[in-house]
Amino acid sequence: MSDFDYDLFVIGGGSGGVRAARVAAGETGAKVGLAEMDRYGGTCVIRGCVPKKLMVFASEYAGMPAEARAYGWDIGDGVFDWAAFRGKLNTELDRLEGVYRKLLSGSGVDSFDARARLKDAHTVELSTGEVKTAKHILIASGGRPVRPDMPNAELGMVSDDLFHMERLPKSILIVGGGYIACEFACILHGLGVEVTQYYRGAQILRGFDDEARGLIADAMKERGIDLHTGTNIVEMHRSHDPREEGLEAAPVEDKQYGGDHHAGPSDGAIRVKATNGNIREFDAVLFATGRAPNTADMGLEEAGVTLGRGGAIEVDDYSQTKVPSVYAIGDVTNRVNLTPVAIREGMAFVETVFRGNPTPVDHALIPSAVFTQPEMGTIGLSEEAAAEQEEIEVYCTSFRPMQTAFADKSDRVLMKLIVSKASRRVLGCHIVAPGAGEMIQLAGIAIKMGATKEDFDRTVAVHPTMSEEMVTMRNPIRTA
Ligand code: NDP
Repeated sequence: MSDFDYDLFVIGGGSGGVRAARVAAGETGAKVGLAEMDRYGGTCVIRGCVPKKLMVFASEYAGMPAEARAYGWDIGDGVFDWAAFRGKLNTELDRLEGVYRKLLSGSGVDSFDARARLKDAHTVELSTGEVKTAKHILIASGGRPVRPDMPNAELGMVSDDLFHMERLPKSILIVGGGYIACEFACILHGLGVEVTQYYRGAQILRGFDDEARGLIADAMKERGIDLHTGTNIVEMHRSHDPREEGLEAAPVEDKQYGGDHHAGPSDGAIRVKATNGNIREFDAVLFATGRAPNTADMGLEEAGVTLGRGGAIEVDDYSQTKVPSVYAIGDVTNRVNLTPVAIREGMAFVETVFRGNPTPVDHALIPSAVFTQPEMGTIGLSEEAAAEQEEIEVYCTSFRPMQTAFADKSDRVLMKLIVSKASRRVLGCHIVAPGAGEMIQLAGIAIKMGATKEDFDRTVAVHPTMSEEMVTMRNPIRTA
């Protein structure tokens, strides 16, 4: 019999924490407790990937009537009903939260709807006043969006607020050029919002392949997103009467919406000054300027857990912190901040600690998607990163997809392979195309297995598809 209340206590009921808790309890027989201060499912399920993807689906219908007409359908442009969509979204999120709670109880995990702090290496204190001891503690408290440090920044929304808006704003300024900024620029544009985006750097989606991000930026502008690179916000405040100040206000006809604690279009127009000197009015501002690990006031450093840059928990390859009984996984460690990675880290933790099989987390060659319109699927090195590492061949093709050609759309797709000259292995694969996320998942298997360019070449094309180009690119367009 253990002297502790639990074999494992997990702090955080998001994707990583829930997976680790239920596998440890359900498959290894460990006695497990878990505390979650908000909704079960965490960022991914409640205010991230899942509601975002549903919004992507909703927004993609915007272009479909025109395409359908080009194919002979007698169909008019519809009107998007945000309230109807939001109702369905909330119902779906409630259902998913219920699934997460059931998964835990079904595996025998005791869940606590409470905030947890570390008291010492084996003890957690809950906001309910309860104190629980555990042989092992796993911190999976995730991250949160951050606003830049500037006066009146609280007037701007962060991504969490987007799902609570009572009504869509008529116009929005999105600040940032990462995943969240670009995905929501496309989503909100598709839903009929006038979108302006300011990104301080030279090109959006820093770190991704240059050609791929260039194509996405061009497509976003072509669709009508007012994207300004090399531009940032310097000042913002609530407009009183923009007409008095001689500014052209974004029309805000009805200020009934919003009203709860979330920043949003409810609060009236926001006047923004940009680094280029422009002063403009927006119905709402969204800060998509990055996320920070949730480590504040958790008793971590007092217990001996060390924090690194931005407050992320420092862990070794096995997700173990400086305190041997305390482990951490997911966004709170700021390694690769993606749901499936947090889940893998949770599984590796259980394997290491509860099955006696030390398993480091494999962070190499992780496929991922950016749900812009067009979408990007990517794995491995960008051309720029690969060229710094070794001599490479670049295979690339860009073309107009067959499906939208009737509608005379200018959208282009991109298929790109980065190949090592020495080993012939595919070092990187970048796809910009409708469904690129689905394509990269499968290409990712081959690349993770170490496929060479010649393996791609000997695979027969599936015709007619967009992805067949991946196996029919014969000659490199350049070497580097
Ligand atoms: P990112 O770190 O990807 O992007 C933050 C953006 O904000 C960057 O463009 C950054 O510019 C800019 N920025 C940062 N600080 C400031 C500032 N003070 N003023 C102006 N601009 C600023 O963060 P996100 O919030 O977009 O996403 C967080 C993480 O969530 C991602 O890294 C990803 O791991 C995950 N995610 C994954 C998704 C997916 O898989 N599809 C979708 C959404 C999120 P700069 O480039 O110059 O630093």
